[in-house]
Amino acid sequence: MKQHVLIVEDARMFSKVLQNRLEDRGFKVVVAETLASAEKKIGLYGELFFISLLDLNLPDAPHGEIVDYVTSCGIPSIVFTGYFDDELREQMIQKKVVDYVTKEDPSSIDFVIHLVCRIHENQRTRVLVVDDSATARRYVLELLAIQQYRLAEAASGEEALKALARYSDIRVVLTDYMMPGMDGFELTKKIRLKYGRNELAIIGMSGYGNNILSAKFIKYGASDFIIKPFLVEEFHCRVNQNVEILSHISALEEAATKDFLTGLYNRRYLFSVGSKLFASARRNQIDIATAILDIDYFKQVNDSYGHDAGDLVLRHLADVLRQNLRETDIVARLGGEEFCLLLVNMDRAALEPFLYQLCTTIAGHDVPCSEKVVNITVSIGACASIHDSLDATLSIADTCLYRAKGQGRNMVVIE
Ligand code: GH3
Ligand code: MG
Ligand code: MG
Repeated sequence: MKQHVLIVEDARMFSKVLQNRLEDRGFKVVVAETLASAEKKIGLYGELFFISLLDLNLPDAPHGEIVDYVTSCGIPSIVFTGYFDDELREQMIQKKVVDYVTKEDPSSIDFVIHLVCRIHENQRTRVLVVDDSATARRYVLELLAIQQYRLAEAASGEEALKALARYSDIRVVLTDYMMPGMDGFELTKKIRLKYGRNELAIIGMSGYGNNILSAKFIKYGASDFIIKPFLVEEFHCRVNQNVEILSHISALEEAATKDFLTGLYNRRYLFSVGSKLFASARRNQIDIATAILDIDYFKQVNDSYGHDAGDLVLRHLADVLRQNLRETDIVARLGGEEFCLLLVNMDRAALEPFLYQLCTTIAGHDVPCSEKVVNITVSIGACASIHDSLDATLSIADTCLYRAKGQGRNMVVIE
């Protein structure tokens, strides 16, 4: 994804504040103070910019000429204005700017930073537009393109379902109501059979707007509704709001199921998903091996190199585990320096060589820490079959781990 932001602004105080705030967020910022200097900077870095922040009034371009120039280079823009009226608004919409902001408003900097982050995220968010009218579709797609969304389009409900199957990154479906064949309601119902409200937003759109239509859309599972014709600002606001709600929900889910330090699943998730996995493995007679892995003498790592180095070691170990397990396996941090692996379709014969190889890989992995390299070993206790419950199985693996520690560490004991 592109990371560069172009600021064209002659008021240095203002551009400095923006630059610092954006750099704090990890963006790379290039500042120009005049149109001439912007031309040079675009000549040098043009391809890299995903957004530009433009002052309408520059010493060598007092009438917003910068917007036309930057737009002609294919860079979307957010525009600062000293004043604001209907005529200027109309001009800005004609010029296809992402948004316009009045500089005097004290909250404008926060607004712009938020907007830049949103546009940056949009580069990996796909929106599917469903409408039987090619003209209507093109209009909406064009608006979304200004906001840097990835796009997909469909001329019917059937095509929309195919597009959803094809692109896994679709987060919003904008659907017309009146379409031949499957109408917007039916499409919404069909989508909701597969995708929940927390995964995908559906926004109904119709020119035959009345309250009942919008209420029905919502009842059938839509997240929102837009009546055509709409104001461009309202359209962007609704789409962005829906995308933001989804990203807040996924951040909450992530926080609830993942361990903050390593990004692996946490204990709570392990137990909730592990119990279901065990039940289904029992029904379908699938092998699941359970292993507990504990770093040897980890306290010494903290004592010798510091707690931060210890954290780094934990993160590296998590990476090694992720790289060496299959996608269907589950790896979780049980707590401290203890990890649990649920290995799906791993039979008894394959388990021992696999775990020994894992021990060897971990022991051979160098963790670069300041000027030093830290190496660790792990002990593993494992259970090759499923017992009464995940709890019972874990407790057997834990007893094996205890034996591995007792027998000298850096080894595997399997029940
Ligand atoms: P053994 O080989 O018997 O497992 O010895 P050990 O030193 O690994 O085990 P012990 O239980 O004595 O110490 C575990 C250490 O792990 C103590 C604790 O400070 C450290 N630890 C637990 N969680 C974290 C963490 O999130 N970050 C860091 N840096 N250290 C942690
Ligand atoms: Mg229609
Ligand atoms: Mg330990």
